[in-house]
Amino acid sequence: YLETRESLAVSINELAKLPSVTTDGTAITLLGNIESPEEVAQVRLCGGEGVGLYRTEFLYLMSEKAPTEEEHFEAYKHAVELSKGRVLTIRTMDLGADKYTQEQSENPERNPFLGLRSIRYCLQNLPMFKAQLRAILRASALGPIKIMFPLVTNTSELRQGKYLLNDVMEDLEDEGIAFDRKIEVGMMVEVPAAALMAATFAREAGFFSIGTNDLVQYTLAVDRTNERVANLYNPFHPAVLQLIRNVGRAARRYNVPVSCCGESAGDPEFALLLIGLGLRTLSATASSLPPLKRLVRKVSVQQCERIAQKAIALDSDVAVA
Ligand code: PEP
Ligand code: MG
Repeated sequence: YLETRESLAVSINELAKLPSVTTDGTAITLLGNIESPEEVAQVRLCGGEGVGLYRTEFLYLMSEKAPTEEEHFEAYKHAVELSKGRVLTIRTMDLGADKYTQEQSENPERNPFLGLRSIRYCLQNLPMFKAQLRAILRASALGPIKIMFPLVTNTSELRQGKYLLNDVMEDLEDEGIAFDRKIEVGMMVEVPAAALMAATFAREAGFFSIGTNDLVQYTLAVDRTNERVANLYNPFHPAVLQLIRNVGRAARRYNVPVSCCGESAGDPEFALLLIGLGLRTLSATASSLPPLKRLVRKVSVQQCERIAQKAIALDSDVAVA
């Protein structure tokens, strides 16, 4: 057992150094999803080229009260230092729904997944939101950081987020505090409305990251946490694939970088489809990166495109792969 563990470790180590390129020479960027700064090291070890999704709400969920600006900053500083110049995509707090705070659970919503969650919650709790934005900006002076808003559904939400960020930038400037003025600001595409309107969002978003965990649940009307309907939760559903294709096309047309950071990006079979639908950047849990890279190095983009074309044309979600 020890032996197999060791040889596995060696092969993962060696794999980590090999380029993530398809047989036709197309580079596929593999990034990691993290929930705490320490995981940056794990991502690196598994061959990730950076962090595509840092779920910052765990900072909140672990302490049961809103983190102070300093607590945010310490976490981001730690993460950016461990990143050593590689990209670190910080998602602003995605609270609510499956990630309820103490305060939210004292005042439960009837339909939390359709309720005051994520960017909506942040836009109604501005002091909390601004403290986070300040901390992210301060950390951006220490290394490359991208900022990403979750659950954006209306253009006004993206605009408000960017407006607030600008506000905070002005404050920092007045105070003489350093930050990256050119920080990239992108959005998650995880509701069908955003996927359908990708071409509109593309004019205002610095990048897209498709969140299939939520996109699947909202497209198929299946609660991602409800075991009773788990059999209906299927990322391979042609409706989901069509939405992803639409986002990919808009991103190409408007030259907006696009990635997928839902857990299914770490599923090799689904990754094939994503590549076939035009994506060149995938972000997943560190442990899923080595098998993902192994797959990438075995296929051509053309093969992926053929599989994706077949899958998207099916009249149901069965027998896709
Ligand atoms: C997603 O919805 O796909 C996603 C990456 O975000 P989370 O799983 O944190 O909701
Ligand atoms: Mg999500």
